[in-house]
Amino acid sequence: MSLELREVRKVFKNYGVETVTVENFNLTVEKGQFVTLLGPSGCGKTTTLRMIAGFEIPSSGKIILDGKDVTNEPPNKRNISMVFQSYALFPHMTVEENIAFGLRIKKMTSSEIKQKVKWIMDIVGLIGLERRRPEQLSGGQQQRVALARSLVMEPSVLLLDEPLSNLDAKLREAMRIEIRRIQKELNITAVYVTHDQIEAMSMSDLVVVMNNGKIMQVGNPFEIYARPRNEFVADFIGKVNLIDAFVEDDKDEKLELRCDIFYNKFFSISKMFQAKKGQKVKIVIRPEAFRLSPQGIDNSNCIKGKVLSSIFVGAAVECEIQVSNSVIKSVISNPIENAIPDIDSEIKLYFSNESLWII
Ligand code: ADP
Ligand code: MG
Repeated sequence: MSLELREVRKVFKNYGVETVTVENFNLTVEKGQFVTLLGPSGCGKTTTLRMIAGFEIPSSGKIILDGKDVTNEPPNKRNISMVFQSYALFPHMTVEENIAFGLRIKKMTSSEIKQKVKWIMDIVGLIGLERRRPEQLSGGQQQRVALARSLVMEPSVLLLDEPLSNLDAKLREAMRIEIRRIQKELNITAVYVTHDQIEAMSMSDLVVVMNNGKIMQVGNPFEIYARPRNEFVADFIGKVNLIDAFVEDDKDEKLELRCDIFYNKFFSISKMFQAKKGQKVKIVIRPEAFRLSPQGIDNSNCIKGKVLSSIFVGAAVECEIQVSNSVIKSVISNPIENAIPDIDSEIKLYFSNESLWII
């Protein structure tokens, strides 16, 4: 393992008022893993990253790096590099000098420095821009310099705090792929911070969903999307319908559920869910789980309602459907022209049991 946080907690004290910013934080990051801390603004992501880097000391708990307790070590005693949102490049230095800066401080020979700078510039795609100054570079190029400057130090762990938020949408998408490519090529361990769920889903081996300083769930992108552990995760990751249901029975291998807004109120699903008879649960169903066509699907797995909105967005139609007193969101992919639901029309949508999740 590369990095471990054990029961990490951080309390800030301002004018005698204590704010718990991070608590019960437990995480193990394996060598070569790309782990993302994901959560809304103010949930404690940056504070956690700063504790890993050594810019903040935990109020309690331990940080273990490559098997060594570094909880109280200063940043320069940890083999860690951090990429900031603002890039923090030296404006008076060339690209080459910016990248070489950390190596100079390490007192490497100039031929070693030259070789390493060339090696990393090649990997991040900066060849030809050696003599430029930061102001003569585009945002994406500046981002690459910031990345190169961190990577050239060959850290045990690379930390990145919302590194793409200053780029426009298209470049952001391209840089997601680039960063992931470079991280894999160098097999470097990375902890990435973002509030953008698409970024987290598309880049990570492991996503740590945070809220109010606490971990809500740790899992791979599929798990946090398809098997959220609570309402916060279900709602924060993409669009979702959360539907009230009641456990009628928990016999044998099946859970018998009653859900008032389903066409056939009673249905059963396999018992991978920890719910007991008499319990109220919520059914998690993603908008894309619905189908218009009933082909091969049991007629009981269906909802019926009135179309409130129907928006054609090219690859899909996004509909809102009034079903008794709930509004259900659906995304119907590959629509054909004559099958786009009309507003105010009655509609039936089908889903499979496999697309349901219970919390
Ligand atoms: P995020 O990066 O998820 O947006 P932060 O870790 O920056 O969140 O901040 C989490 C909370 O901790 C915020 O409410 C912030 O105001 C508070 N906080 C961060 N740094 C300090 C500090 N040095 N003193 C007091 N409060 C702080
Ligand atoms: Mg932050």
